[in-house]
Amino acid sequence: MGRVAIVTGGSRGIGASISRALKEAGHEVAATYGGNDEAAKAFTDETGIRTFKFDVGNYEACKSGVGEVEGALGPVEILVNNAGITRDAPFHKMTPQQWSEVLDTNLTGVFNMTHNVWDGMRERGFGRVINISSINGQKGQFGQVNYAAAKAGDIGFTKALSLEGARKGITVNVVCPGYIATDMVKAVPEKVREQIVAQIPVGRLGEPDEIARCVTFLASDDSGFITGATLTANGGQYLA
Ligand code: NDP
Repeated sequence: MGRVAIVTGGSRGIGASISRALKEAGHEVAATYGGNDEAAKAFTDETGIRTFKFDVGNYEACKSGVGEVEGALGPVEILVNNAGITRDAPFHKMTPQQWSEVLDTNLTGVFNMTHNVWDGMRERGFGRVINISSINGQKGQFGQVNYAAAKAGDIGFTKALSLEGARKGITVNVVCPGYIATDMVKAVPEKVREQIVAQIPVGRLGEPDEIARCVTFLASDDSGFITGATLTANGGQYLA
């Protein structure tokens, strides 16, 4: 059944694969982004998927952004909270700004978006919320106190909210990708990449489409008995 879906950060990287996969599954997709107009335009030109620009870290911007999407496509039934950033530094050098930027986008952004679709999902008795966390929110990572705290927060958010949505037909789940072959990871020096791959039992990086398939399943009507779950997709690198 085709439904209306929002994918935050849906114009690039893993989010772009998720947007495409949801469209292929028959859903009407809105991909949001933060500032890269060029990438968003190229994505829309290539896929026909509409893009909407607003900062997930800003509650009022999310409220009007969701309103704009709903005006264009209809009530949102699937929300994928994928937008995320890194501002890495060892803790003793981490600035309050690096802390706040990552928490605002990666954790508060999840609150801001979900809060603005939640009432509608409750009223209609159906919803799918899928949050994209990270292996580093499960296991921690040197230089990523801000990122790991936010991504671990996304897991706690998911578990608590799933209990509130359960009787209303709303499932809330979280996907924890390991290292995925996005531009960011492909840009690291080959030697570093080899070191990363050496830690992955399946012997390769993940593909964005592999995360997209996890999300498409969790977004489907078939997944109604799965809620509050953490779906780990990391090639065996960390067994949570
Ligand atoms: P990218 O950097 O490729 O894309 C990030 C997307 O998020 C872009 O569309 C970007 O918009 C958008 N975005 C960033 N900040 C904001 C903001 N404040 N408001 C609105 N949109 C914003 O990321 P990846 O594809 O690598 O990662 C996607 C998700 O997966 C993230 O949550 C990340 O933490 C997680 N993840 C990634 C892994 C990896 O190996 N790549 C591993 C584990 C988890 P714009 O284009 O305008 O900049």
